[in-house]
Amino acid sequence: MTAALLKSLNLSKKNAGASTGMHWWSKTKKSGEIISYNPSTGQPIAAIYKINQVDYEYAIKEARVAFVKWRDVPAPKRGEVIHAIGMALRQYKRALGRLVSLEMGKSIQEGVGEVQEMIDMADFAVGLSRMLYGKTMPSERIDHRLCEVWHPLGIVSVVTAFNFPVAVWAWNALIAAVCGNTVIWKPSPKTSLAAIAVQHICNRVCHQFGYRGIFSLLVSDETELVKNMASDNRIALLSFTGSTEAGRIVNELVAKRLGKSILELSGNNGAIIDKGTDLSRVLSAVAFSAMGTAGQRCTTLRRLFVHESDYEKCIDKLIPIYKQIKIGDPLNKKNLVGPLIDKSAVAAFEKTIVIAKQSGGKILSGGKALKHPGYFVEPTLIKINHDCDCVQQETFAPILYIMTYQTFEEAILLHNASCYGLSSALFTNDLAHAEWFLSARGSDCGIANINIGTSGAEIGGAFGGEKSTGGGREAGSDAWKAYMRRQTNTVYWGQTLTFAQGVKFAV
Ligand code: NAD
Repeated sequence: MTAALLKSLNLSKKNAGASTGMHWWSKTKKSGEIISYNPSTGQPIAAIYKINQVDYEYAIKEARVAFVKWRDVPAPKRGEVIHAIGMALRQYKRALGRLVSLEMGKSIQEGVGEVQEMIDMADFAVGLSRMLYGKTMPSERIDHRLCEVWHPLGIVSVVTAFNFPVAVWAWNALIAAVCGNTVIWKPSPKTSLAAIAVQHICNRVCHQFGYRGIFSLLVSDETELVKNMASDNRIALLSFTGSTEAGRIVNELVAKRLGKSILELSGNNGAIIDKGTDLSRVLSAVAFSAMGTAGQRCTTLRRLFVHESDYEKCIDKLIPIYKQIKIGDPLNKKNLVGPLIDKSAVAAFEKTIVIAKQSGGKILSGGKALKHPGYFVEPTLIKINHDCDCVQQETFAPILYIMTYQTFEEAILLHNASCYGLSSALFTNDLAHAEWFLSARGSDCGIANINIGTSGAEIGGAFGGEKSTGGGREAGSDAWKAYMRRQTNTVYWGQTLTFAQGVKFAV
């Protein structure tokens, strides 16, 4: 099955590694290999040659040459290329979704859903290709026109995390490209195959349109490569998705050269269930947010605050939901929870369970790694006090801490007492509380939802978070502006020059 799947996506030894268009792979076989593993079995899927410094320089050169042409292509024409990529993604939706599921371990529904998100992003970018609007402002001087226009930046480098192996690339790359930039992608080494499959799709489409070097791929597990990119003046914008720890290192290097960065980092997302909320209506959203993608979404719900009067009732209703969840091979539709990505993720889960217990936490459901091949753990529900250290950490696993509060004001304070600020949710029937949560006195996160969970953002909105989540915004709304430079233009078309602020300068 795996061999047939890889073949259907044109993945073979001959054409995998570094790719800048027609040159599929790095010529070198001397930099070593990355093994891509199936997290459901722990078995290798394929070995991939890593890139070296020569490949890196080659990709930069190609991207620079391509940029000079691509920036002059009218944006709606660039949109046609992105449209064709969207159509090709539709063609490969099922196969690519299966590969994402196989290599990353998310359920097949989520794997295919991730490819749908790429398609949605392509459609959004096509629309955007006719809407890269600038403003015209009234000039304070007669016979002057004052306006702003948006220009592409140059090379945009996109570094992605393992948990969204392809969608995060699309959020960045399709917008960056439609804005007139060229894009170099450094995916997570844990999901290299999915990245190579996407690159092949782009290569084929770009070739049909007579372009090369617009999208490039560098496969490597060397963190030095990312640091080099962060320090490289030839890269105009570095969009980094990953842990806060790594993002901080990268951001310091970019800031040192006064470069631009977009940071999409860790989260420790919370939800509040308001007093008296109908629990049967909200708990499936809570459970999905907490254990979807085996708790490996940046928007996974990790902290649940329940009013003290509903606390025990909520626990009684959540436990049976947790107990009935089917864990297993993500390619089997019946399983809702797949494996963690690797052995170290299981170790981090187990370590957190020990710490939670030592801090007085009570395991209400789950708490163990499964004793069969692969990296499966039980979705876990823990009754705990909000001030325990582990509650303030992001453990990238399906662990939900359930805590109480007395007043709504206290719930918001507890919710916001996190160093992260990605996604948040309130379940309520109280209009005033809903508006409070969405006001400046409410959630301090980049995403605040009412009556839906923390995970599953739509591409139409700008995605990103505050505080240690990094402050970046990607995907919809006006996130495109981060991939362009703003230029203010003043045009004087009269006969007698006048100066601003009424200055007289007679010569
Ligand atoms: P990670 O930080 O280990 O890796 C992310 C990327 O950075 C990879 O491409 C990796 O090769 C590279 N990298 C890792 N360490 C580095 C270092 N020291 N220097 C330079 N580059 C480095 O993250 P991960 O385990 O792949 O993904 C999980 C993390 O990403 C979680 O914290 C999650 O919340 C976060 N995430 C955030 C978002 C978001 O939009 N905010 C989306 C997805 C994932």
